[in-house]
Amino acid sequence: MKHKNTSCYRCEETKETSLENLYGYTVCNNCKSKLGLFQDATITRHIKSFAAAHQLDASHPSYKQDVQEKLALLEQQYISKKIKLLHIQERIKSLY
Ligand SMILES: [Zn+2]
Repeated sequence: MKHKNTSCYRCEETKETSLENLYGYTVCNNCKSKLGLFQDATITRHIKSFAAAHQLDASHPSYKQDVQEKLALLEQQYISKKIKLLHIQERIKSLY
């Protein structure tokens, strides 16, 4: 079993000075730079763009709501895929 808190989730880098905890996940500097994290200016632009769309159509979500919905959908998809794989794993064990 890997020590998840002492190595990067993506490349398994273990050099402590290179590691950072992001929302509960350990990430190295190199992999962090590849995540495409948004700058505040980009986030601000999105907030304004979504607010403008909401002005024209009240059913249009705010950027905050949109991000929340995307996270919920992602979580749902992650669980569905995980259940499918765990089921396959269980069937393999019982078949062989
Ligand atoms: Zn890494």
